[in-house]
Amino acid sequence: TELSLIRNFSIVAHIDHGKSTLADRLIQMTGTVAQRDMKAQLLDSMDIERERGITIKANTVRIEYPAKDGKTYILNLIDTPGHVDFAYEVSRSMRAVEGSLLVVDASQGVEAQTLANVYQALDAGHEIVPVLNKIDLPAADPDRVKQNIEDVIGLDASDAVPISAKTGLGIPEVLEAIVTRLPAPQGDRDAPLKAMLVDSWYDPYLGVVVMLRVMDGVVKKGDRIRMMQTNAVYGIDKLAVLKPQMVDIPELGPGEIGIFTASIKQVRDTKVGDTVTHERKGTEEPLPGFKPSVPVVFCGLFPVDAADFEPLRDAIEKLSLNDASFSTEMETSAALGFGFRCGFLGLLHLEVIRDRLEREYDLDLITTAPSVVFKLYMKDGEVRDLHNPADMPDLTLIDHVEEPRIKATIMVPDEYLGDVLKLCQDRRGIQLDLSYAGQRAMVVYDLPLAEVVFDFYDRLKSVTKGYASFDYTISEYREDHLVKMSILVNDEPVDALAMMVHRDRAESRGRGMVEKLKDLIPRHMFKIPIQAAIGGRVIARETLSAMRKDVTAKCYGGDASRKRKLLDKQKAGKKRMRQFGKVEIPQEAFISALKMD
Ligand code: GDP
Ligand code: MG
Repeated sequence: TELSLIRNFSIVAHIDHGKSTLADRLIQMTGTVAQRDMKAQLLDSMDIERERGITIKANTVRIEYPAKDGKTYILNLIDTPGHVDFAYEVSRSMRAVEGSLLVVDASQGVEAQTLANVYQALDAGHEIVPVLNKIDLPAADPDRVKQNIEDVIGLDASDAVPISAKTGLGIPEVLEAIVTRLPAPQGDRDAPLKAMLVDSWYDPYLGVVVMLRVMDGVVKKGDRIRMMQTNAVYGIDKLAVLKPQMVDIPELGPGEIGIFTASIKQVRDTKVGDTVTHERKGTEEPLPGFKPSVPVVFCGLFPVDAADFEPLRDAIEKLSLNDASFSTEMETSAALGFGFRCGFLGLLHLEVIRDRLEREYDLDLITTAPSVVFKLYMKDGEVRDLHNPADMPDLTLIDHVEEPRIKATIMVPDEYLGDVLKLCQDRRGIQLDLSYAGQRAMVVYDLPLAEVVFDFYDRLKSVTKGYASFDYTISEYREDHLVKMSILVNDEPVDALAMMVHRDRAESRGRGMVEKLKDLIPRHMFKIPIQAAIGGRVIARETLSAMRKDVTAKCYGGDASRKRKLLDKQKAGKKRMRQFGKVEIPQEAFISALKMD
């Protein structure tokens, strides 16, 4: 295709401002999908995405549009994930296109993710067309929101396109704006092949599917190509464009976006942002700025029923085929048995994977408290990554500990500002900036990621009745007074409950945990101390009193006979009791103790 007839773009928006609905409407109005095949939110293919209204994997669609100038254009829409956890994927896919539609809900205005996403688009050098959506709503105030876009983002919004993605009003104007206001791609057909790996996923029928954007050169079916980062060489079996269903195509030239398959075994072999070139006479220069996405939040996933370990292993293997940023490693815990230590891009990513395991694979899981990756500076000069608090070495060997900090941007109506500031302050936040746009405040905080992965989203939502929006980027690792807190039941440490905490917060966290456990652990024949400790020092303690004599017949106790113990052991599977020294703790106690509330 001639470059001047191509337009590549993405849609950036805060969640719920109508990105998916607009994409559907563009697809529908251009007849890309037959009316009878049209279903809501066509591009959000996974059920869980649809339910939660988020888009996780970048998707794309090729639209043919006969414009008013009499020419037919090819519009490639890349649907980028809208959530902070996937910021790296967003920033890469942004570099695969030249322009963005900035969708802002005309009844709401600019929100935190609008800002974060539009900055990424500007970073990628995009031309931006502002679109004011939901003008059918009585509360819509397009003039105010235009002003809001200019004040907060500093973008000229005088030519913003007012639309209703719901009713279809203004959609023809959006299509014309894409053609007339966004630039055509550039590229050299005769140069060596240089293409960006935009996304990859596992398809049960086709195996690994790779999406790419050609910058220079031409790629054809049958070509032998090389991934420059991994140095792997493959032969292209299938080359296609997405409409959004796959339609085979003999070649892709500069400015074009499509997919290929090449008998690639694992999604892990394909790195988003990598450069694809020909095996022979390829380019010498990869595209700039490649970095792999690294997991930042870790937690343990254990089957509630030990018999589910193999099915869990299976399910995890399948899911990681489809998600290169999800890392796993086997883990054993005295409390929870066999399971996996898993790494995620963020808390939402964690929730999505856990949900899919439970739903699609019908597994009951225990999730241990999410933890970030701490950097341990050892006295001998070594620097270690700590993924699991249970692996924390002896304090005397450690010089200092660093934790990841984030730069968080929160936008909130005036009346909730006080509560938001208090919440951030409580979470060891440092205020960096505070400004206003109309009735809304925008605060920027430096916060420890560890405090945010705990339950920050939920708290923020509840103190602002859902009116705050939040976005963050990881800024740096910084030293703080961080220690491992152990929980001891009857003087035995319980590995699954160990956590890293700030020294100043240790007492209150510890007290909370021992109080909770006191209610959760059944009484035994003897007194049971429940303690929180740092190193050898106890910082919180509760004592579970002994059971009275007259109920001994029914209890599973410390001084039971050998036979009795054997029987108990047999029953343990069903009752899911875990033995800690002389104490038995029901599995439910762990589940409740680990619940984030
Ligand atoms: P996304 O999160 O940005 O993809 O937003 P969606 O496209 O999923 O839309 C969020 C909600 O807003 C859905 O309930 C849509 O039906 C609704 N919505 C989208 N566009 C419009 C519109 O123009 N008018 C109205 N009234 N509702 C809309
Ligand atoms: Mg959506």
